[in-house]
Amino acid sequence: MTEIIHYQNFIANAFVPSDPSIEVRNPANNQLLARVPEASGEQVEAAIAAARHAQKNWAARPAIERAGYLRKIASKVRDNAERLAHLITAEQGKVLGLARVEVNFTADYLDYMAEWARRLEGEVLTSDRVGENIFLLRKPLGVVAGILPWNFPFFLIARKMAPALVTGNTIVIKPSEETPINCFEFARLVAETDLPPGVFNVVSGTGATVGQRLTRHAGVDLISFTGSVDTGSRIMAAAAPNITKLNLELGGKAPAIVLADADLELAVKAVTASRVINTGQVCNCAERVYVERKVADQFIEQMAASMAATRYGDPLAEGDLDMGPLINQAALDKVAQMVRTATGQGAEVVTGGAVADKGAGFHYQPTVLAGCGSDMAIMRQEIFGPVLPIQIVEDLDEAIALANDSEYGLTSSVYTRSLSAAMRASNELDFGETYINRENFEAMQGFHAGARKSGIGGADGKHGLYEYTHTHVVYIQI
Ligand code: NDP
Repeated sequence: MTEIIHYQNFIANAFVPSDPSIEVRNPANNQLLARVPEASGEQVEAAIAAARHAQKNWAARPAIERAGYLRKIASKVRDNAERLAHLITAEQGKVLGLARVEVNFTADYLDYMAEWARRLEGEVLTSDRVGENIFLLRKPLGVVAGILPWNFPFFLIARKMAPALVTGNTIVIKPSEETPINCFEFARLVAETDLPPGVFNVVSGTGATVGQRLTRHAGVDLISFTGSVDTGSRIMAAAAPNITKLNLELGGKAPAIVLADADLELAVKAVTASRVINTGQVCNCAERVYVERKVADQFIEQMAASMAATRYGDPLAEGDLDMGPLINQAALDKVAQMVRTATGQGAEVVTGGAVADKGAGFHYQPTVLAGCGSDMAIMRQEIFGPVLPIQIVEDLDEAIALANDSEYGLTSSVYTRSLSAAMRASNELDFGETYINRENFEAMQGFHAGARKSGIGGADGKHGLYEYTHTHVVYIQI
């Protein structure tokens, strides 16, 4: 991309003149791609006001009509899939194949949420009184602020706007300052439809300014946030004065438990996929391994070979790769520092272990660390990079205890041929999701939610949809 595009905030179906002061760069080569605005206080106010103004009429339409707009947008996403995938790869760094999956999954997600239009249900409850009916209605909350991370930036738009809109809410989205281009391109597609003004709005800028303005605002009824635990905690504080409802999808430190009876080839393949995908920058993917001693040497050797075979580099320049760069210099520094600290504490580098010599991009070598212990930061803190620390355990009991001993509780995985071991692990692992004998990747009809500091509430499926509603119980005495 040679032309530097200046994007503008999208408020009430219009791109409003804005000061494009934030530079967006390609993390694979540091090339300048676009400039986006830091929305002013007035623009944030205008976006929330537009969403508020539109909401009552939007909610009054039949759900199936609202769903029709989601389908129109899904169709436009599909028509532009290849262009969008290239933009996502350019600004976020994921390989083109994964960007294509992200775009298609986004279109499917919009359609999936549209299907709920005829399935939204309330309840009729029995009463303690004669001649009384009790109705539990599900109603939209009002205006949603959707605050996005950079790792699956395009999909996250749909994950928030689709359930919000089909249930009768309107939304103001703030993309990450790292990856706003795809969000403005999504807004361009929305603008090509006849979606009523104010139903979907985008304001860009930093978390400290635009994010804070949205989360402190009394005119926001739900903050739907995906990002780090630290930011989630700050958002809770910002929401406190208005008691604003929160939906927080935060970080993870997913354990992968490999038992002695596992199909090791399958385990190595799945754990590699779960560590290399999106350069390890995925909330639900394998961040630490507990392997049973009997198969540890074999597993570590195979895991190292598999990670070492990962093809990585600049996805647009080098073509068919497994892995791109990290998102920015700070992420690269953090990963490098975590590995240095771990090796200083006795971890052994089996493969990788260094910043890759790949020009101006933020590339780190696919890395396996053996000899890790449960006190090491690398086994406790989110790495968010292509580094896999491995700890040897004596049995399933020890693995479960160590897995649960974490401030995170998003996802987990187990590799075993024993049904009873799989069932015991499912019962005793204290996580929002457990994957048995497969890589970590959630289904849109599931429920993506974490225990402990991994979040409050969740996304996807019926349960994710109802997060965007509140209940209204009506007692009718005749
Ligand atoms: P951050 O928490 O740094 O940022 C997320 C978003 O919050 C960005 O748009 C950011 O703005 C904004 N933000 C930052 N500070 C504030 C604030 N004080 N008030 C309001 N908004 C604010 O996360 P990352 O973008 O770095 O994403 C990575 C994290 O997200 C990881 O921890 C990962 O585990 C988690 N994640 C969780 C998922 C889940 O489903 N549980 C899925 C994907 C990621 P800006 O950066 O533009 O300044």
